[in-house]
Amino acid sequence: MTYCHCESCRRWIGAPVMGGCLFHADKVRIVKGAEQLAIYTRTPDSGSHRKFCKSCGSSLLNDHPGIRMTDVTAVSVPDLEFKPRLHTNYAEKVVSMYDGLPKYKDFDPALHGSGEEMPE
Ligand SMILES: [Zn+2]
Repeated sequence: MTYCHCESCRRWIGAPVMGGCLFHADKVRIVKGAEQLAIYTRTPDSGSHRKFCKSCGSSLLNDHPGIRMTDVTAVSVPDLEFKPRLHTNYAEKVVSMYDGLPKYKDFDPALHGSGEEMPE
């Protein structure tokens, strides 16, 4: 679970920071309302497929088939306790957050990022 500060995520959800939960794609299953999902393919080349609700417009999922991961917006799962452990793309931030969590310039090494940390 992470906060992402990149411009793309901010535009996607219309907020200064996106709270997301990155899962292996095969661990994410829609159990109800799949017929209400619409897809916007943001990056056809690398494969980034944003899914949103046709009824209310809420941003729900972002599939990344190239890395076989799915990003689920933090508030999409009603009973999920959001416990972020880091910040990604902090170099693109428009708001500073003082929570003591690691703040990576891009991504942490586990997500093939530089691992370079930034001050809060
Ligand atoms: Zn992002």
